[in-house]
Amino acid sequence: MLSCVGYAATAADAPLKPFAFDRRDTGPDDVRIDILYCGVCHSDLHQARNEWQNTIYPCVPGHEIVGRVAETGPSVTRFKAGDMVGVGCMVDSCRECTSCRDGLEQYCETGFVATYNGEDRHGRGITFGGYSRAIVVDQSFVLRVPDTLDPAAASPLLCAGITTWSPLRHWKVGPGQRVGIVGLGGLGHMGVKFARALGAEVVLFTTSPGKVTDGLRLGAHEVVLSKDAGAMAKERGRFDFILDAVAAEHDINAYLDLLRRDGTMVQVGAPEQPLPVSVFSLLMKRRSFAGSLIGGIPETQEMLDFCGRHNITADIEMIRMDEIETAYARMLRSDVKYRFVIDMATMPQAA
Ligand code: NAP
Ligand code: ZN
Ligand code: ZN
Repeated sequence: MLSCVGYAATAADAPLKPFAFDRRDTGPDDVRIDILYCGVCHSDLHQARNEWQNTIYPCVPGHEIVGRVAETGPSVTRFKAGDMVGVGCMVDSCRECTSCRDGLEQYCETGFVATYNGEDRHGRGITFGGYSRAIVVDQSFVLRVPDTLDPAAASPLLCAGITTWSPLRHWKVGPGQRVGIVGLGGLGHMGVKFARALGAEVVLFTTSPGKVTDGLRLGAHEVVLSKDAGAMAKERGRFDFILDAVAAEHDINAYLDLLRRDGTMVQVGAPEQPLPVSVFSLLMKRRSFAGSLIGGIPETQEMLDFCGRHNITADIEMIRMDEIETAYARMLRSDVKYRFVIDMATMPQAA
């Protein structure tokens, strides 16, 4: 077994702290990865604090992992020591159901194995995530990170990237469409970059006046302050597609009303409490309201390769491991520009 040090939450109200645990030995199909960087997703905060009421403690968060392959099992054909690789929100699934066969492992009929706070399929209890120095993952759930990308800035692609890419592709966003992105955080800023790169006319909706300039720099053609009722009213009925990446309670009907006939709004933000939907906002113009969960392994590789070709990464602020609580506090104030990434060299050697 591999002794490992990570940072774990031990209770919903306890700050994360160093935690020693073991990883499994590198099995025949496994890749052992020395983690270099791990992005900080708002889902880490939701789960560290048990906001989705399903956290099993101790919880080592982290599912935006980039690192170098340290060792491969004898059956591993796709990776070799030294490769720059990534691991996102999933480390396994049943691989047999229709969703798995379709390359949509996130919708595995038996439930995928989450990178952390998931039930391990190797009999090791609950999975531990990327706030740690190393991880052992089956090669089928390891992604290639293009060499041309900065590995730290690429780490958020493994969740924030694929979570916005997948719905934009599924609903075929492209030229000639007016697309709204709601919330300029980790997910939202990737949504803006991707929607722009896919050729859409992009409008960012933000609650933060201080993010207007950044929104335009990141690729939005226009930025609307969502607290400005007059500005919102002008946007009614003008959108083909809206992606909502807000992490907190907010009025989604205000955005449904902005869709054209047959337009679609997709929710990726996952706040703790239910969000009321006005059925009249839907039925008046045959609008759709949908959800989307991360993305499958093949489409994650497709997204990474697209990023390699178009030189797209996240805008990041690097932090030390012991700054994680400050990062969480800033995330709660919407003060993220636009993803925190942990430099894993700052992980203590011992717990
Ligand atoms: P984040 O970096 O904290 O960004 C969230 C953004 O939402 C904020 O920057 C802010 O943008 C906006 N916001 C925050 N509070 C708000 C409020 N009260 N009203 C309106 N807007 C508010 O979070 P993230 O990592 O991007 O994650 C966003 C959400 O997606 C989280 O709930 C996370 O769990 C979820 N998520 C879902 C999936 C999935 O598969 N569906 C995957 C990953 C994450 P402005 O300052 O621009 O308003
Ligand atoms: Zn995430
Ligand atoms: Zn399956």
